[in-house]
Amino acid sequence: MVTCPRCKKELREVNGKYGVFYGCSGYPGCKFTMDSRAYALATRAQAPSTPKKEFVPSKYQVAIFDFIQQGSGNAFVEAVAGSGKTTSIVKALDLTPTDAEVLYRKGERHGLGRTEAEA
Ligand SMILES: [Zn+2]
Repeated sequence: MVTCPRCKKELREVNGKYGVFYGCSGYPGCKFTMDSRAYALATRAQAPSTPKKEFVPSKYQVAIFDFIQQGSGNAFVEAVAGSGKTTSIVKALDLTPTDAEVLYRKGERHGLGRTEAEA
């Protein structure tokens, strides 16, 4: 099912004088239409995407998450490149209370490509 981008009602197939097209079921209140090619594209765009691979934390990530939920003060996580630092931070943000202030800093030891973010 494809919904009308204007009024969110369902689009329906219409047999018009010049062939099939898709029109808003809110017609005549809403005159939105799209041709069958656009409808096919929209169907694909609105189709549920394949489910994401489930996140399974490593024992190190579990330790980080434990700290976030129960620890206090500051934590330093030393990790090699490609070990999933960003994934850990993003997952950790899910665990923090919504009213908490979070500042995380990801830095490279050699000082290049340093990124900082405040959430
Ligand atoms: Zn509509």
